Amino acid sequence: MTREVLAQNIIDTCLEMDRIGLNQGTAGNVSVRYEDGMLITPTGIAYDKMTVEQIVYVTNEGVFEEGKLPSSEWLFHLCCYQVRNDINAVVHNHAINCAAVAILNKPIPAIHYMVAASGTTEIPCVPYATFGSPELADYVREGIAKSKAILLQHHGLIACEVNLEKALWLALEIEVLSELYLKTLAITPDVPVLDHQSMQVVLDKFQSYGLRVEQ
Ligand SMILES: [Zn+2]
Repeated sequence: MTREVLAQNIIDTCLEMDRIGLNQGTAGNVSVRYEDGMLITPTGIAYDKMTVEQIVYVTNEGVFEEGKLPSSEWLFHLCCYQVRNDINAVVHNHAINCAAVAILNKPIPAIHYMVAASGTTEIPCVPYATFGSPELADYVREGIAKSKAILLQHHGLIACEVNLEKALWLALEIEVLSELYLKTLAITPDVPVLDHQSMQVVLDKFQSYGLRVEQ
């Protein structure tokens, strides 16, 4: 895909993220792997005002295109691409239910088989660090190595996938799982979980059949 098409896909994903209620204001940010680095949303521009020319190219070494400023959270996006070869798109937001679980500082255990969409049996919650900091990027690196989706304590969600459509789909799945977790936690602190063997079956199925989202 050309840079222009990828940049338009980024903008469309941001608008869709707002439309489905996963984001508030300009809090979220979106990127795709591109050449020797990534294309990412700029800082502080409303999605409905964003143009393809404003999408920023950042190299693997963290060098920005001249005259452009990427999202303040660009560093953890870059870390996701460096740590996983199997992903080409990263979606980050402060979705309400994800952020609520992250405030409780809880990973999402295997409360539902769809947890396996993250490629693992538990969605980690990585420790708090200031947004945009190298410390947060280090925590993200560790978490994303284990799972394609992670919660950031007192912050929000990161979801990575092979393309933007799947990454946004995964972000929505994690928001639904977070809501389910909060609902069940409100009834009992001891929420039942699926056993390891049952989850392994689903993980294997997801690997061999893939998720039902067009690439
Ligand atoms: Zn954020």
